[in-house]
Amino acid sequence: MTLIDQIYIDGAFVTPHGAELFDLHNPATAQVIGQVRLADEVDARNAIAAAKRAFASFSRSTKAERIALLHRLADALEVRRADLIEAVIEEYGAPMSRSAWMADYALGAFRMAAQMLETYDFKREIGTARVTMEPLGVVGIITPWNANAGFIAGKLAMVIASGSTCVIKPSEMSAIQTQIVTEALHEAGVPAGVFNIVTGRGDVVGAEIAAHRDVAKLSFTGSTATGRAILRAGAESFKRVTLELGGKSPMVVLEDADFAQAIPFALNAGFLNSGQACIAGSRILVPTSRLAAFEAGIRDAITSFPSGDPRDPTTVIGPMVSARQWERVQSYIAKGLEEGARLLSGGEGRPEGAADGWFVKPTIFTDVRNDMTIAREEIFGPVLAIIPYDSEEQAIALANDTDYGLHAYVAGRDETRARAVADQLVAGRVIINAAPMEMSAPFGGFKQSGIGREGGTFGLEAFLEPKAVMG
Ligand code: NAD
Repeated sequence: MTLIDQIYIDGAFVTPHGAELFDLHNPATAQVIGQVRLADEVDARNAIAAAKRAFASFSRSTKAERIALLHRLADALEVRRADLIEAVIEEYGAPMSRSAWMADYALGAFRMAAQMLETYDFKREIGTARVTMEPLGVVGIITPWNANAGFIAGKLAMVIASGSTCVIKPSEMSAIQTQIVTEALHEAGVPAGVFNIVTGRGDVVGAEIAAHRDVAKLSFTGSTATGRAILRAGAESFKRVTLELGGKSPMVVLEDADFAQAIPFALNAGFLNSGQACIAGSRILVPTSRLAAFEAGIRDAITSFPSGDPRDPTTVIGPMVSARQWERVQSYIAKGLEEGARLLSGGEGRPEGAADGWFVKPTIFTDVRNDMTIAREEIFGPVLAIIPYDSEEQAIALANDTDYGLHAYVAGRDETRARAVADQLVAGRVIINAAPMEMSAPFGGFKQSGIGREGGTFGLEAFLEPKAVMG
């Protein structure tokens, strides 16, 4: 049993004022594996005060100092890579290959920020004005459980690159991963107060950070519902906000698509991170004329996406993170059946032979209408909806008929045609034919998928405020 009973404020591990103990689980066994002592509002206020004090000097640090610090942070995390992978498997249930990717993404975030900073110019001249890009002050960072280390690292890297300081409130369900990350970052020798980590409840610590007058900016990743609450709380003191929220992303399979490539592309995009991914391609739009062939191909291919023990190297889909998440996914599968969608594979309950953990059968519905609940709401599990269409115009209209606009995917043989469709999709990012991700490109959503962008210079500038001096 792990007991995590310290938080990190002003460069030191300290016992929180909050005294509530929260159980941590292994999702593959549903067993309690540890407890975390949660921070409260008092801890959040102490952390904000430490970050405010540190801002006075850190905002004047040089670009070279920040680049060196970002490299030290990446190095320190690299030393703990194996521990972090183990924690991701144990506490989150991500399959092995995904866990390794998550650890590498986190340390890569610091390296990418350092690299970007090399060429970023904080000073420019516009007409007669000297314009400087100024750090904002104390940043409140609030993150979800589905990629804990990556979100902490990605946001902290930008805070440091910009010259701001921060208070981080990670998900209370990721405390073991957070502990490893915090220990690593502490080893890197960051000036006291530049980053503070207070694991606590969202409606306690998160709400305090979101409303506190000394917090200049909120960088949040999580659900659209919480994003709305944070936006309201921040409005009182006009906080800058970056909100990375939910999605219901379309995978548009064009008439000329090569199914040998399009089907694995669709399944990989849909089942990404065991389906617990904001960018999951959960609505698969398929031409009616080729629907039967697509369904047959999916039935064959889905056997290569087994759901099971995250430590088994052949596993692609791990358990859901919590009992609550498992029940939520089950309720959507039941809803799909109730609303008349046709089950192509999977269904309710655990996969055959699965242990007591929170395992879900990879589930695909077909003949789904875009107005059904399973096509409208983010399920956040391995449940995909095939929606037939009759013309390309209709496919584009269906793809865009959603409250979300985070991501989209297009599969098609003719690249010019695929790009023309991508250009008409209302989404922050579009991937054509399984092209690799460009990490320095902007990331974020249209509509209710969020506000602002992360990644590259767009991401950095979300932490800066231009100031013009004339004369
Ligand atoms: P969540 O919104 O429930 O929680 C996210 C964080 O917000 C947690 O740390 C939580 O404690 C905190 N929180 C909760 N209530 C709060 C409040 N009132 N004030 C301040 N903070 C509060 O989300 P989750 O269930 O942890 O994560 C899943 C969601 O995150 C999904 O909707 C998913 O799409 C989204 N997500 C988005 C992205 C993206 O980049 N767009 C990436 C990953 C996940």
